[in-house]
Amino acid sequence: MIFEEEDFEMEITIKPENILRSNGLRKTQIRLEMLQIFMNSNHALSVNDLERDLKSSHDRVTIYRALNSFEENGILHQTPDPNGNMRYAMCSDSCPEHTHQDKHAHFICEKCQQTYCLEDVKIPDVELENGYQLNSITYTMNGICKECQLN
Ligand SMILES: [Zn+2]
Ligand SMILES: [Zn+2]
Ligand SMILES: [Zn+2]
Repeated sequence: MIFEEEDFEMEITIKPENILRSNGLRKTQIRLEMLQIFMNSNHALSVNDLERDLKSSHDRVTIYRALNSFEENGILHQTPDPNGNMRYAMCSDSCPEHTHQDKHAHFICEKCQQTYCLEDVKIPDVELENGYQLNSITYTMNGICKECQLN
């Protein structure tokens, strides 16, 4: 996601409307609500999670369309879930439009089934054999998350 400098100078906490404005996205209720939900969550969210947490009800197509625009603008990236479906998580502030830089590992907790971004665990660079074109790498680890170890 891209921030304008004025956003940092004027407010310490980033608000959903700042993210939309900085990325040239129109301010709609569902986009604001969805961003707030992502910003309040410490783990990745599925479309089902969003449907449950959105205050007003929206059809799935609307939710998917908002997710796509966030993904295209480097605001959200896809993360895996335990069943091979997709979840989404906030990008770090270094993601430009169209090309994501989220080269970190994802951790799936075997107890709470949530997916966490491990921003500090970087995916190592790999050399491919000739003739293969690399488009994306996923690096997923399974185990017990911090919170579940306390409970
Ligand atoms: Zn990203
Ligand atoms: Zn857990
Ligand atoms: Zn991530």
